[in-house]
Amino acid sequence: MSEQALNSSPTGDYADDAVMLKAVGYAAKHSFSKLKRFEFERAPAQADEVELQVLYCGVCHSDIHQVKNEWSNTVYPCVPGHEIVGRITRTGAAVSKHRVGDLVGVGCMIDSCGECTPCRSGDQNYCEGPNSWLATYNGPMIPAQKAPGKVNRYGRDNTFGGYSNNLVVRQDFLLRIPSSLPPQVAAPILCAGATTYSPLKHWGVTQGSRVGIVGFGGLGHLACKLAKAMGAQVTVFTRTKDKVDDAGRLGIAAVLENDKDAMEALKASFDFILSTIPEKHDINGFIELLQRDATICIVGALEPMEPVNNMQLAFHRKQVAGSLIGNLADTQEVLDFCARHGIGPDIEVIRIEDVNDAYEKVEKGEVRFRYVIDMASIG
Ligand code: NDP
Repeated sequence: MSEQALNSSPTGDYADDAVMLKAVGYAAKHSFSKLKRFEFERAPAQADEVELQVLYCGVCHSDIHQVKNEWSNTVYPCVPGHEIVGRITRTGAAVSKHRVGDLVGVGCMIDSCGECTPCRSGDQNYCEGPNSWLATYNGPMIPAQKAPGKVNRYGRDNTFGGYSNNLVVRQDFLLRIPSSLPPQVAAPILCAGATTYSPLKHWGVTQGSRVGIVGFGGLGHLACKLAKAMGAQVTVFTRTKDKVDDAGRLGIAAVLENDKDAMEALKASFDFILSTIPEKHDINGFIELLQRDATICIVGALEPMEPVNNMQLAFHRKQVAGSLIGNLADTQEVLDFCARHGIGPDIEVIRIEDVNDAYEKVEKGEVRFRYVIDMASIG
């Protein structure tokens, strides 16, 4: 199948006889199916695009939500993967920022409208164009059928992500991989790193800030490392006893979410809390831990939450917020920040044929802390 064949109105930027790029990936065909080997074609790089060989791709919990259609917006076949590090194999004629052989990263976005107010101020992740941004997989964030006038500015309904041997991306959406970061370690920074760094930065976490991280998984453990490197005093909240020791090894204080005494002792003490729990949950207990004027930001659950007691918020002018991935500048910044501070995710490299197993382990909370697929294993 061709990626372009799925597109309802191809942009027509390339000649009809352009040689399509043969690709192989792992795809889910339905919400109930496992990921399986899938051969397809990609449109070759246009003037301002590059082709890359995918080397490593992280396994984000979002991939699992998407494959299982848990956000009710999945376009099948679904080739997930948005924590990608690869090497450029070909550049379009107008590419000036990158060369063949460069090691580059691709996160959650591969395009945005470039014209709206957020895009012009560098917040591509909040693109207000008719189709919002173009996701690395699963197509435009606002599909044509939900866009004003059913417009399809990207000329495609689906995109295939990094669980594949190659990718075609506009040069502006590529990130530089610092030479001191091993590529497999850099991969999860492109989503998990950006998604946690961006709110930590936005809400002014700095030396001496008291920061709580809720959920000690892929995003959560990276958030702990980033906040610590920013100089914050970090406490992680976990429901998993074993992870208290893991936190100790990282030099992070850990509290079991059901430890009432520990929670009581921490009331009104945090400047900022970030929740990475991947489903609907009750944040009222965490709101009580915030100081006056402080914020709890939810990045994990992208769905309706349990009701919030506004008395807790109003009496101390506290705020509940959300945040979506990171813009391109923040994504580059967090890669550079990790390189400068010598930090990165704790990873376990797997082969592509083990990805379905890996999904089960992520869902059971058994991963420590991020699986990264060695894409050479796709053969
Ligand atoms: P992980 O599964 O790696 O980590 C989530 C952690 O949350 C788990 O390890 C566990 O930690 C805790 N947890 C899981 N289920 C529950 C539960 N039912 N109740 C309480 N705690 C729970 O996922 P990721 O870190 O990869 O992703 C987290 C979420 O963030 C996902 O939903 C993902 O889709 C979302 N996401 C959002 C983005 C955004 O832009 N807003 C971008 C990227 C991801 P512990 O054992 O410590 O309790």
